[in-house]
Amino acid sequence: MNRKIKLGACQMVALTIAAAVLLMPLRTFAQTQISYHKNRYKPGDDVKLGRQAAAEAEQQFPLLRDSEVTAYVEKVGQRLVASIPAEFQHSEFRYYFKVINASDINAFALPGGPMYVNRGMIEAASTEGEMAGVMAHELSHVALRHGTAQATKAQKYGLLAGILGIGGAILGGPVGTAAQVGAQGVGVYFLKFSREYETEADLLGARIMANAGYDPRDLARMFQKIEAQGGGGGGFLSDHPSPANRYARINQEAQYLRVQERTRDNREFLAIKERLRGYPRAQTMAEIQRNGGRYPNQGNNYPDQGNNYPSNPPRGRVEYPSSRFRNYAEFNVLQVSVPDNWRELSDQGSSVWFAPAGAYGSTNGQVVYTHGVNIGATRTNNRNLQQATNEFVSALQQGNNNLRARSNYQRTYVDDRNALSIALSNTNEATGRAEVVNIVTAQLRNGDLFYLITVVPDSDYYNYQNTFQNILRSVQLND
Ligand SMILES: [Zn+2]
Repeated sequence: MNRKIKLGACQMVALTIAAAVLLMPLRTFAQTQISYHKNRYKPGDDVKLGRQAAAEAEQQFPLLRDSEVTAYVEKVGQRLVASIPAEFQHSEFRYYFKVINASDINAFALPGGPMYVNRGMIEAASTEGEMAGVMAHELSHVALRHGTAQATKAQKYGLLAGILGIGGAILGGPVGTAAQVGAQGVGVYFLKFSREYETEADLLGARIMANAGYDPRDLARMFQKIEAQGGGGGGFLSDHPSPANRYARINQEAQYLRVQERTRDNREFLAIKERLRGYPRAQTMAEIQRNGGRYPNQGNNYPDQGNNYPSNPPRGRVEYPSSRFRNYAEFNVLQVSVPDNWRELSDQGSSVWFAPAGAYGSTNGQVVYTHGVNIGATRTNNRNLQQATNEFVSALQQGNNNLRARSNYQRTYVDDRNALSIALSNTNEATGRAEVVNIVTAQLRNGDLFYLITVVPDSDYYNYQNTFQNILRSVQLND
């Protein structure tokens, strides 16, 4: 497949003429074409992954259990679903809509159909159309199968290799990529896709809006609101087209869309908003995660002690990884970037840990981590990457009785070098919690084995995937 958004020759001519005449408005002659990206998954895989992710999301975030509000959002959602153009309908998909009791202006949709709309998004919208706009954008990611398309692309580069091998209860693959969760303000819960995907979701979203009888410009207006509410501070806008550009693009597209007849009636929407006002203030998603009981603040936060490990098991509050990264040079051969709210904690000279405060401590005289990355190199007797890795992993298993492989080895890359990745499950010896351990290995020129190990509790797994991927991607080996 070629580029997904085609700029026809006629459009180029049109732009040239427009430039020459200066006063002519910028116009294309037709709707932008959108097509699917390469995807090695079947639509049924989207459904399966989305279902797992939905279960996880509902564990993490409180649903607003108000049948009137939910029924209303579901009704608007199904109207949009019915307006998805035929070429982007999938009989396997099951779209449904739930409301999360959180104040962020946000919504996210998962592969195969589950969608979660934040209470804050409904409250921030002035009309039903504005609320529907964000939903139509999110629906478009699902209909275009962006989650699994992105996983397909990432897998080609090995970025998700280890993650995709993981089955079962935790979020794997596309969802790990898709449902990026962090604490950096508005927009972080939006599926984190490339600009190209975002533009496609805007354009298809505008089309769905028009088909459903909404003004497609409402979608653009909502992005402006998100910006006005400080959406520029988080990672969202740094990686995505600015709302101003999106606004212009959506409005441009809207000229070619015929909005189906529908009476603009906001009475029901306003009644729902009124109903929401009766509830106590909702927390932000970050607050929910912080106070959610997973890391109960027991008045036991460790003061900053530099590299001295507290002589207690880790059970402080763990801050979510910052989206700003700091670069470190290690062992004369390695460069790596990690979130700037993580600390560098050296281990035994050949390995280094990076971990957030509250995520490390000691138990039985041993240092224990709950969240973080361990990077190092080790001597092996094997010049073959697979054999050297087997040797390394079994050595780790000897010291950690609960460490079990949960995937096969996957081929991947570290700094363009062949690498292997494997996912393991473990029970953390300090906290007793189930955790996911991912190991990536590559060979150094001197035959040593480079390794990068990530550790995170199952319950936090999908909050950390983006961070771990960025760390792995940042590694430079200069041996
Ligand atoms: Zn999006």
